[in-house]
Amino acid sequence: MNFPAGRKVARLTANAAGAVVRSAVQVARGRPLLATEDEKARRVVACRACDCWIAATDRCSIERGGCGCWLPAKRALTVERCPRGVW
Ligand code: SF4
Repeated sequence: MNFPAGRKVARLTANAAGAVVRSAVQVARGRPLLATEDEKARRVVACRACDCWIAATDRCSIERGGCGCWLPAKRALTVERCPRGVW
């Protein structure tokens, strides 16, 4: 899928803003913000086996139907979810 640059920036900005809000709510509720090492490792394995994964940048490809997020940050947060429901 071809994604215009402006639309891509808007999507990434919305994703990041959503993550900030969800994380703030998580903290306000006294719940853990960061995923456990085991959970992060499970997510890494899943991403590396996925056709949306961009190895060079460790991002999830918008062009291939993913979210476009930078995965080290996304996988580290308890509130984040894989856009394809893999994790
Ligand atoms: S977040 Fe989900 S869709 Fe994106 S690379 Fe990881 S497993 Fe694939």
